[in-house]
Amino acid sequence: MRGETVKYFRKNIERMEGYVPGIQPKEKGWLKLNTNESPFPPSPHVIEAVFQAINGSLALYPDLAADELRKKAARVYRVKPSMVLVGNGSDEVLSIIARSFLEKGKKALILHPTYSLFETIVDIQGARLIRQKLNADFSLPRELFSKKADCAFVANPNPQAGTLFSRKQMERLAKTIGGMLVIDEAYVDFAPWNCLSMVREYGNVIVTRTLSKSYSLAGMRIGFAVAQEALIDGMMKVKDSYNVNRLSQVAAVAALDDREYFRNRVKETMRQRKFLGRSLKMLGFKVMPSGSNFLLAKPPNGVTAGQLYQELLERKVLIRFFDTKELRQYVRITVGNHEQNDELLKTIKLALIRFDVDYPETPFGVVKF
Ligand code: PMP
Repeated sequence: MRGETVKYFRKNIERMEGYVPGIQPKEKGWLKLNTNESPFPPSPHVIEAVFQAINGSLALYPDLAADELRKKAARVYRVKPSMVLVGNGSDEVLSIIARSFLEKGKKALILHPTYSLFETIVDIQGARLIRQKLNADFSLPRELFSKKADCAFVANPNPQAGTLFSRKQMERLAKTIGGMLVIDEAYVDFAPWNCLSMVREYGNVIVTRTLSKSYSLAGMRIGFAVAQEALIDGMMKVKDSYNVNRLSQVAAVAALDDREYFRNRVKETMRQRKFLGRSLKMLGFKVMPSGSNFLLAKPPNGVTAGQLYQELLERKVLIRFFDTKELRQYVRITVGNHEQNDELLKTIKLALIRFDVDYPETPFGVVKF
C-alpha cells in the first residue's frame, strides 16, 4: 500500500531529493556549531514581552499582516511598512517568492554552491533550474552577467563560504538578469555593507532578512521580504493568512526594539569570528574570508575535512561537512561565543594530535597543547 500511494505525487516532487538540514540533536551535551544559530540568548526584553503575551488572546488568530511588526521592521530598514512582508522564518518568505514567480516553463537561476534550500523551492514549483558555478575562490564568475532567468536567488553573504558580493555586482545582476532578483541577506548584519536600499531603485529586486541569526530568534521563526509595494501586495495573496503566530510577532517587535542588545551581540560575534579565524590559521587551517557568522575552513595536511568532522562528532562537537566536489575539502563552523570557540579549538587540537598533524610555526610561537 505504501508504494502504491507514492505514485500520486507530482512528478517533480517524486524526483526531488528534498532539503537536508544540519543535525538538530535532541539530547543535551553537544557543542552545536553546525546551523549558524546565535550563541547568545535573545534580549531579556524579548523574553519579557513573550511572557506578557501568554494570555487568553492566544485563543484568537494573530494579525494576518503582522502590521505592528511590519511598522517596526519598516522603521529599522528605513522603508514604508507597505514594502515589508513578514514570514514564518525567511525560509517561508523564500518559498512564498518561489510560489509567486515560478512555475513549469519558467527559469530559475541559483549559484553553486549556495544555500541548498533554493534548489528545493525551485524544484517544488517544477521550474527549470540553472546553476551558475562560482569561481574556485567562491567569487562570482563573469558569465553570470550574461545569463537570463525569470527569478534568480543570490544569498549575500553566500553560504557555504560566507562570501560577500559587492553592491555593484548585485546592481549589475539586477540590470542583466531579465527577471526577478532575490537577494537573501540572512547573514548581512555580520557584513560591512548590504543591498537593502536597492529595493527603492529596482522594481525587480526583493531583499530577504531574518531574525534567526543576528537577533537570536531562530526558534521563533521570523523573516521578512522587503521590496516595492506592488511586489509585496502580490506576494501577500500567496502567503497563508495567519502565517506568523502571535508570540513570534510579539518577540520580533521586542527584538527589533532593543537596538543596543542587537548591536553588542553582532559586534561580539564579529570579534569572535576574527579570533576563531586567526586561531584556526595558527593551527594550519586555510580560512576563507567571511561576512557571516560562520567560517569555511580547510584543515591542514594530514587530516581530511570528513575525518575531522567525524572525529569532532565522536567528541560531541557538531560542525558541518558537505560531501560535494566543491566543498569536501572544507568544514563549515558556526562562530560561537568565547567559551564555545575555546572548547571547539581544544577539541580540534586533540583531533589533530590523533591524526599526527604537524603544526606550522606561527608568529606566536609553536602551537601548544
Ligand atoms: N537564507 C540562508 C542563506 C540561510 O542560511 C538560512 C538559514 N538556514 C535561511 C535563509 C533561513 O533562515 P530562517 O531561519 O529565517 O528561515
